[in-house]
Amino acid sequence: MNDQERTLRQLPEHLVVHQHAEQALHEHRRMLVTLLSNLPGMAYRCHNDPDWTMEFVSEGCRELTGYPPDDLIASHRIAYGKIIHPADRKPVWQQVQDALSQHEPFQLSYRIITNEGEERWVSEQGRGVFDDQGQLTALEGFISDITERRQTDELLRLSEARYRAIVEDQTDLVCRFLPNGTLTFVNEAYCRYFGHPSEEVLSTSFIPMVPKEDWDYVMAQMAACNADHPVNTYQHRVIRPDGAVCWVQWTDRAILDEDNALIELQSVGRDITEQRQAEQTLRDSEARYRRIIETAQEGVWQIDADHCTTFVNARMAEMLGYAVEEMQGKSIFAFVDEAQWNTAMSHEVGQHDLKFRRKDGGELWAMISTNSIRDGQGGFAGVLAMVADITDRKRMEETLRRLATQDSLTGLFNRRYFFAVAKREFQRSQRYGHSLALLLLDIDYFKRINDAYGHRAGDQVLRTIAEIMRGGLRQVDIPCRYGGEEFVMLLPETPLDTAIAVAQRLGATLAETPIPTEKGPLPVTVSIGVAGMTNGEGLTLDLLLERADQAMYTAKQAGRNRVQVWRSDAQLSFAGT
Ligand code: GH3
Ligand code: MG
Ligand code: MG
Repeated sequence: MNDQERTLRQLPEHLVVHQHAEQALHEHRRMLVTLLSNLPGMAYRCHNDPDWTMEFVSEGCRELTGYPPDDLIASHRIAYGKIIHPADRKPVWQQVQDALSQHEPFQLSYRIITNEGEERWVSEQGRGVFDDQGQLTALEGFISDITERRQTDELLRLSEARYRAIVEDQTDLVCRFLPNGTLTFVNEAYCRYFGHPSEEVLSTSFIPMVPKEDWDYVMAQMAACNADHPVNTYQHRVIRPDGAVCWVQWTDRAILDEDNALIELQSVGRDITEQRQAEQTLRDSEARYRRIIETAQEGVWQIDADHCTTFVNARMAEMLGYAVEEMQGKSIFAFVDEAQWNTAMSHEVGQHDLKFRRKDGGELWAMISTNSIRDGQGGFAGVLAMVADITDRKRMEETLRRLATQDSLTGLFNRRYFFAVAKREFQRSQRYGHSLALLLLDIDYFKRINDAYGHRAGDQVLRTIAEIMRGGLRQVDIPCRYGGEEFVMLLPETPLDTAIAVAQRLGATLAETPIPTEKGPLPVTVSIGVAGMTNGEGLTLDLLLERADQAMYTAKQAGRNRVQVWRSDAQLSFAGT
């Protein structure tokens, strides 16, 4: 209360004093009039009639009502009673009469209508003035404008009501509680949610509504909300009235005093049980998929649009001899030939055999099944590949292929494969009229080598002869192990003379070089029969072979270690050494 307010409160008393000592206090009166005329508000002295006929009004009348004081005195132009808002006239009269009958001061607020027709709220305080006989002689008091204060109050009231409505209409749970958990406010939704009317929960702690397992966590979260961290969001379980345990997410806000000390916490909560369950279901299924992928027998490899590895499972890394982390982020081309990969990816079918490079430099043959990954807009976002190790299968295939085509001892073509290839060559030569020759080679007295030095030494001889044969041939020639110690060679596009020369050179080489074996170097000779075809005469491969065989047999009979050529005049001519 400032000095001016204090003066205002005391005014009526002063006025009474003033009235009683009028003549003696001229000077004092003048001083008071000056004071009154400068006060924001209107001092008055009036009759107790419905017009409130004024004997005196101070200069503040002009400011308050818009009328100069003279207009009101003796209701000269307007009675104060008419200035009071019509709706308020009766209550004002009644309140004043009540106070007067009790000989008590009155204080009231009501509306007036100013000279300009404007509505104002005023506050009036006054009292009755009684003579020695206790007769009421006048009323004295003071009226001030409180329109602005009313408006502020009204705004405050409105905003309070509005805030309250918001809080109460919330489906969110709203509460306030002291730092020890004692609730000081709860909204409707909160009461509904926990199944207690507000009077039951207010002044009690909310902690019993939290399952014991979450107590420590909740306490820690409450303690975390302070001046430095005024807002804190967290989730914990609560117990509903039916005993159900639900999840609520709370956002606490610290309510601080001027010194930033924590007074209360205000919290807004929302049930997130369903959301938590959905998340948990998702986490479970994610974990399940992850387990499947991690324990899969197949490798799983994901790359992005730039071919960088975004995921590999443990099996994939193991297949290539890496740790998962080593592969992460690496381009797939660090592990597979770029051209091969691109060729595989360009095909419609999503399954391909591809050769990968292992960390140890070895190779991994894998069958991969791929799926393109699309982004939200349907654009290419990468590839997901399932990778199965087929190295063993590839090795087996390779072996089978070799077994199917090669003789296992010497590595030359086997008899079956020889016929397949030789037949093709033979037909081609016939069609184009090319010459072609066939050499049939049989080791002389090979049985003796076996008998004298053993089968192993015999094998070594066979292998070495095969090697020497291969060494003396062209790429296009087809050497084959025809039988036990018999070999056949098909020489495409080769005139007979040339074939004879090849045979002679081979026979001579062998005869000159003893073959190294575990039993020491062994001298070995061979007999070779040669048959040729020129101008695609009406021959068959079988017939040609038969001729070479006849020639070889002749060579044997002629003493071995020689080359025998079959001639069309049926006369076997020797070209022996
Ligand atoms: P000829 O000069 O008349 O051809 O006399 P040969 O002893 O070479 O002829 P023969 O047909 O009597 O004997 C061939 C021998 O070759 C018989 C067999 O034991 C041996 N032989 C066949 N295949 C193999 C083999 O894979 N390894 C070894 N070590 N010996 C084999
Ligand atoms: Mg033989
Ligand atoms: Mg032989």
